Amino acid sequence: MKPLKDVLKEIAEEICFTDADSSEPDWIACHVLGCGRASLRLIRDVEDGKYREMLALAKERATGKPLSQVLGYTEFLGLRICVNVDVLCPRQETELLAEQGIIYLKSKKRARALDLCTGSGCIAVALSKFSDADVTASDVSQSAICVAKGNAERNGVKINFVLSDAFDGVEGIYDLIVSNPPYIPTADIETLDSEVKDYEPRLALDGGEDGLDFYRIIAKNAASRLSDGGMLLLECGKGQSEEIINMLSGFDCNVIFDLAGIDRIIKAVKKSV
Ligand code: GLN
Repeated sequence: MKPLKDVLKEIAEEICFTDADSSEPDWIACHVLGCGRASLRLIRDVEDGKYREMLALAKERATGKPLSQVLGYTEFLGLRICVNVDVLCPRQETELLAEQGIIYLKSKKRARALDLCTGSGCIAVALSKFSDADVTASDVSQSAICVAKGNAERNGVKINFVLSDAFDGVEGIYDLIVSNPPYIPTADIETLDSEVKDYEPRLALDGGEDGLDFYRIIAKNAASRLSDGGMLLLECGKGQSEEIINMLSGFDCNVIFDLAGIDRIIKAVKKSV
């Protein structure tokens, strides 16, 4: 037996040369002990076997592999979302996008929602879990669709998945379209942290020369795919919102800033004609 507080300290030392944040030793311990973070405080000692398991995970994390890939999952709006190398790990900022979508869907009855570039499916799963909407989700990657399907099943929601490049294979009219498309300018990808550029799929990051390729496609098609008064919610990168809003003629747009003060979400309502 080893005192948990010593084990947590040892894990922290093991992973201190990575980009790990201070909560990661706790998450590793929770994973191995099968408990939530609040209950962790009630545990005094750790059995040797569990200690070795924790240390093995810490060593894997110390190689620079992101914690979500070491554990195989992360949390998104309190839901467990499994991830692997085929999908982008859900980010905290994206919870803001999903929350806005949920608020909108809750104001309607059985609305139709579409999540483009669904990746792990985190947004689509959250929309479906926390509203009564019919949710469709698309991605160009078959492997991502597989991950997203698994996440829908594990979270007990039914989503209509479509293998499609943006709108190409998607049919129908929606009340809400959400997307967190790839938005990193191609040349900037090499400058990203190793945990992103070496472990996350380029397909999920690369937004073309200026990072805005997907927004152009979305701006061109969204109005014809939305019902009157329908809403478009887009996540974007720092400083991109102005240019994206300029593409969205026919929409009333607002920007929502994230906790770091970055223009992160564009909320665009289709103007009635
Ligand atoms: N929709 C997924 C997410 O927000 C994937 C996004 C992407 O691959 N660009 O995490």
